[in-house]
Amino acid sequence: MQHIPVLIVGGSLVGLSASLFLSWRGISNTVVEKHRGSSPHPRAMGFTEMTLEHYRTVGIADRIPQTLPDTRLRRVTVENLASDWTAESEWTPGEAADRSEALSPCSGAAIAQDRLEPILRNACVDLGSDLRLGVEVIGFEQEEDRVQVRLRERDGGLEYEVTADYVIAADGATSAIRESLGIGRSGVGHLRTLRSVLFSCPAADAYLDRGPQQFQIEQADFHAFLTTYGDSRWVLMFDDDRDRSDVELADAVRRALGSEMHFEIITTGRWEMAGRIANCYSEGRIFLTGDSAHQLPPTRGGFGANTGIADAWNLAWKLEHVLTGRASRALLETYDAERRPIGWLRHQQTFSRPDYAAWVGKGFDPDPLFGNDAMEFGQLVRSAAVIGAGPELPMARRPDDWAGQPGTRAPHVWVSGNGETISTLDLFGRDFVLLTASPEWATIGGLEVACVIRVGIDVHFPDDMRFQDAFGVGAAGASLVRPDGIVAWRSRSGADDTAIASMRRVLKGSSD
Ligand SMILES: Cc1cc2nc3c(=O)[nH]c(=O)nc-3n(C[C@H](O)[C@H](O)[C@H](O)COP(=O)(O)OP(=O)(O)OC[C@H]3O[C@@H](n4cnc5c(N)ncnc54)[C@H](O)[C@@H]3O)c2cc1C
Repeated sequence: MQHIPVLIVGGSLVGLSASLFLSWRGISNTVVEKHRGSSPHPRAMGFTEMTLEHYRTVGIADRIPQTLPDTRLRRVTVENLASDWTAESEWTPGEAADRSEALSPCSGAAIAQDRLEPILRNACVDLGSDLRLGVEVIGFEQEEDRVQVRLRERDGGLEYEVTADYVIAADGATSAIRESLGIGRSGVGHLRTLRSVLFSCPAADAYLDRGPQQFQIEQADFHAFLTTYGDSRWVLMFDDDRDRSDVELADAVRRALGSEMHFEIITTGRWEMAGRIANCYSEGRIFLTGDSAHQLPPTRGGFGANTGIADAWNLAWKLEHVLTGRASRALLETYDAERRPIGWLRHQQTFSRPDYAAWVGKGFDPDPLFGNDAMEFGQLVRSAAVIGAGPELPMARRPDDWAGQPGTRAPHVWVSGNGETISTLDLFGRDFVLLTASPEWATIGGLEVACVIRVGIDVHFPDDMRFQDAFGVGAAGASLVRPDGIVAWRSRSGADDTAIASMRRVLKGSSD
């Protein structure tokens, strides 16, 4: 029977991203996906800066066309695409949709899921992932030291078993793995079922020159939502309250366009608008990622697939450290501790915003809103793999307000080193990195950190963004950054015994 270190169930965006991140870390893995290719149904098209940062770290960001819009998605209410808009609704009320370019070396990408997935599949294969398409998981048993998994090839029906050290369930919102494990879900639950009609209409692209990309269609007897993939494909969505013939679907598209334009319907599909968060993200050797862990509707914050890709990013280095013997299995417990609160944060922020508040009704208690940059770059994680992220801290803040707070993403600053200009984010990814301007910290012997970067020697920060300000450490301090770019610990003081012991504690927390 074949043994696989990590078996990934589901080869859509999140499963493929998990495989890519693991293969880049040198961890052998197999992806089983029951379909042979990507689903043609309309789904994700907005990928955020953080997602692109992860892809940049593993060297594939330049394969993904990165758009450079100066704003996030804009939504307007119109009678039809060709009419003037009557109102514009902000994703975060009171906050302009402008992007803060200074916060990331990457911009987001507007690319349809069925275009991104082939890029990921190719990248996975390049890095040595074993992709098995047309193969489904039909059962599994979890044992003390491994998971036994039954697979079936859909062509021919051949059934066989493999064993795996760990299983990543990236099998979507209806996850059979989650259900078999008996993990329930909580949240606002089912809200609506929608019908999507995907159609090609190059003539409609001209209307994008006006700025907005999302159109709430309001007519007396017709309410729908129209948006674009940005590649002359458009999606119309409305309540799936009854069966509609092809003629009716075409008529709905015509009404939404509002002007005579040639279009061709490509496909139609249904999807459920819902909010459900798994009550636990892991059980023994099995980890839930992506929609199997959190089912959230599409938002202008990109809280769907992007959240799942971030799960995979969080889990990959932990699996690497455990499988290579650098950390004990306790590190894997921090996956649920860190990612489930993020799932809840995104659930609450989705349904507290006007785009969705109307659908949840009075029983829902909205949370105060965090701004766009706080949600994208400034979420906080707390677990044994972070020291200094206390319960008194908010779940999100702007990154410049955090200034290197442990539990948040290490800040992006353009720095120079070796005659090149790089992002500080380019320094992270492979292993723990200790960043310090202090000769005291830089020359300590016996630290279990693979990489010490001396600020002022190896890299130089610009005068208007000094290291000690960006990372909040003072001239004598140091910052320890995890392989996923999260600050694990920092010291404002010099390398005295207390500070060294505290840094060792976080490294040990990651190896206990
Ligand atoms: C209309 C729409 C628009 C959206 N827009 C955005 C957006 O702009 N940005 C964003 O971030 N998100 C968006 N989303 C959400 C996004 O599409 C999902 O979050 C994303 O697809 C989740 O990826 P996943 O890999 O977790 O699960 P899925 O995409 O559901 O993939 C699960 C995979 O597992 C496979 N599978 C299931 N069971 C088995 C089995 N037993 N054996 C083998 N394979 C199995 C399935 O075939 C499937 O390929 C949108 C969703 C919709 C519906």
